[in-house]
Amino acid sequence: MKEKLYTIELHDALTSEDECPFCWLERKLEQEAIEFVLGSSYMESDMRDKTDRAGFCRCHTKAMFDYGNNLGNAWIFKTRLTWMRQQLKKQMDGFSPQPAALFGKRKKDGEECSLTGWIRQEETHCYVCRRVKETYDRVLDTFIYQIKHEKEFLDLVMKSKGFCIHHFGDLVQVCDRELGKKEKEQVFPLLFQQMDRELVRVQEDIDWLIEKYDYQNQDKDWKNSQDAVQRTMQKIIGGHPADPVFRSQK
Ligand SMILES: [Zn+2]
Ligand SMILES: [Zn+2]
Repeated sequence: MKEKLYTIELHDALTSEDECPFCWLERKLEQEAIEFVLGSSYMESDMRDKTDRAGFCRCHTKAMFDYGNNLGNAWIFKTRLTWMRQQLKKQMDGFSPQPAALFGKRKKDGEECSLTGWIRQEETHCYVCRRVKETYDRVLDTFIYQIKHEKEFLDLVMKSKGFCIHHFGDLVQVCDRELGKKEKEQVFPLLFQQMDRELVRVQEDIDWLIEKYDYQNQDKDWKNSQDAVQRTMQKIIGGHPADPVFRSQK
């Protein structure tokens, strides 16, 4: 493998005791990317050239606002606006509306005109998303590498709390693509049993949380149910719904 291996990051994620090591890692990478963009790199014009072109998705735009650094955000979004105005102007200049005639060929529902298509396309590439995904993909490669080369690696995986269903989708995909027949016969049953077991655990927690609201149970122990809502949400779709807003410490 010529790419860098992310064994330390993967190890840290697997021993984080998070409901999903990849959620844990994604949050770390996301925060690092936002810190990087709004740190001092926005002062460099070649950095701004990159963020001008890539832009930011709605979720990370909100995260950047929440992070703080008003001047940094002003620089980044000023230059992004300048770029978008130029490009939008070109699109509007080249736009030809479809004929409105009754018998003219009309676009079907959901079919985009060229200008809308361009706008939607601009919303698909986000600088933060891209940075996170690049490292995340390498971590998935490292996961495969470790299965192939590190005997104790699967024990470490089995000691974790399993994965959220969202990231489990990525993991199954990469294992199915990259592992050999023998490895698949070993790995898939282990991963599937673990997912079953860990999802049952979370199910029991959220079931008990609801039971606890019954007055007959008011004096009973909460067990592990107090944060069951956010952990169930995470197990289903990924992310950390109960996280406080990530803000600059400066
Ligand atoms: Zn996850
Ligand atoms: Zn994004």
